[in-house]
Amino acid sequence: MAELVRQITQRGIVHSPGKPTLELQSVSVAYAAGTNGITTTRGEQYALHNVTFQVERGERIAIVGPNGAGKSTLFKLIVGTLRPGQGEVNIFGHDPNGHICIAYVPQRSQIDWSFPVTVEDVVMMGRVGRIGFFRWPRRNDWTLVHQALARVNAAHLAKKQIGELSGGQQQRVFIARALAQEAELLLLDEPLTGLDVPSQEAIFTVLDGLRPDGVTVLVATHDLNLAAERFDRVMLLNRQVVGFGPATAVLSPDNLLLAYGGHMHRLHDGELLLTDTCCTGHEG
Ligand code: ADP
Ligand code: MG
Repeated sequence: MAELVRQITQRGIVHSPGKPTLELQSVSVAYAAGTNGITTTRGEQYALHNVTFQVERGERIAIVGPNGAGKSTLFKLIVGTLRPGQGEVNIFGHDPNGHICIAYVPQRSQIDWSFPVTVEDVVMMGRVGRIGFFRWPRRNDWTLVHQALARVNAAHLAKKQIGELSGGQQQRVFIARALAQEAELLLLDEPLTGLDVPSQEAIFTVLDGLRPDGVTVLVATHDLNLAAERFDRVMLLNRQVVGFGPATAVLSPDNLLLAYGGHMHRLHDGELLLTDTCCTGHEG
């Protein structure tokens, strides 16, 4: 009975015990506007084709692949803003829609930074799913917001406008929003792009702090070295999953040549040189 009451009163979807945090089964998605890739029978182009994988609780996964590989598309499928043309996406055994346990930070270029909102309000937005629309935050919600900001070392920024912050500070604030949301699955789309090494390190320190809570983290990145060094597993993507597992196995020369094609060059000494990284350039 207590369990039934808990399930009814809990906002969002109840998780099925024993199911993986994230599971994609034969997922394909195509956009109507053409790009060069595999073409569907209706003449559309697949952004992702036949993608199948599982992620378990608490894992930290890097998603790497060239520009246009489908990394952002994959994240949109996982949060449920995009529906797969074929296949299934499941979060704790259920369709993504209705889950309040997923936090998603889009690529910087997708966010309107001029929107006049303070840092603490951004973090409070993470509470909306827990509080419910049309209700006011209670003292406890503000306490959680300020605790979340303290955990990402941004308590001193609470009253600032989000647009005033540096790129690294903004990423930390969005991670604080995920903490306030009590997210169990965190998706960060290119959070490291354009950040200097200390700012990147600060983000990894914050991500390390999520480990005891069992938060699962997926990070899209162009940085193959960081992917290899700082993550439990790496997914190499180029519209299809080229490899998924430990970096040493996945980031093999053959796989990299397969994923990056003409942008990856084999040098005389066997080393690989990547000439394309990211078309969006460095964003502050
Ligand atoms: P990545 O994040 O790895 O750079 P994306 O997921 O953004 O890749 O894009 C994958 C492919 O889908 C690209 O070829 C891109 O041009 C195309 N694409 C992405 N979004 C759209 C859209 N809304 N309409 C049409 N094509 C799109
Ligand atoms: Mg992208």
